[in-house]
Amino acid sequence: MAQPASSPALTGTLSRRGLMFIMSSPSGAGKTTISRMLLERDGHICLSISVTTRKPRPGEVDGKDYYFVDQAEFDRMVENEEFLEWAPVFGHCYGTPKAHVKAGLKEGQDYLFDIDWQGTQQLYQKLERDVVRVFLLPPSISALRQRLTGRGTDSAEVIAGRMERARSEISHWDGYDYVVVNDDIDRCFEQVRKILEAERLRRARQTGLIGFVRELMQPGD
Ligand code: ADP
Ligand code: 5GP
Repeated sequence: MAQPASSPALTGTLSRRGLMFIMSSPSGAGKTTISRMLLERDGHICLSISVTTRKPRPGEVDGKDYYFVDQAEFDRMVENEEFLEWAPVFGHCYGTPKAHVKAGLKEGQDYLFDIDWQGTQQLYQKLERDVVRVFLLPPSISALRQRLTGRGTDSAEVIAGRMERARSEISHWDGYDYVVVNDDIDRCFEQVRKILEAERLRRARQTGLIGFVRELMQPGD
């Protein structure tokens, strides 16, 4: 039987608040690769573009991969409280600009964050209910070294620094909601995608749910 236009069964997807999907990993474990796959294949999540004082790597585009700024500009943004969080990493500063993300979450936009454990803690303290924390691990330390070398973006000295830091980064694994081992890339991606799907369905994010359920409970037919 045809239902009236106001029926909740005909209203389509329920409105919901966006979420902040944080992916961290020791450098080289694959979070950029998995992030790119997620952004390409899921139309409902976009990257929160960080501000950094580090120089662009070959192929990186200002405003797409990062906003590249000098130290004075970064300091000014800190002073003006323009960041949701910021942290020094590998001798450079990295921060998440605030305005865009806060407005987007209200509109139901999901954001992907490629940030380290310090930034994750800060975001969790500020916006706990919106945050989903995923930590990627390499299958082994030797695989991590191979990936850093194979990527071909860093000097031997930088790779040595990243390897040294990897152990301390791994020690933060228990500050995350989910831990996924990136052994096979497709399997890892599938697991990350499932986490995102399930988190979107959390009751607390479904802002349209109360009205919907109320209508379902109306006496009638
Ligand atoms: P991160 O962003 O964590 O520093 P990347 O995504 O840049 O790491 O990955 C580092 C290198 O490892 C890249 O060259 C990438 O192609 C490769 N890589 C990522 N995941 C895998 C995987 N599961 N198996 C083999 N190589 C991988
Ligand atoms: P890379 O220089 O390799 O792009 O990033 C170095 C590290 O900085 C990575 O661990 C990455 O997750 C982290 N990072 C990137 N953007 C931010 C940010 O906005 N805030 C914080 N806290 N860390 C970030």
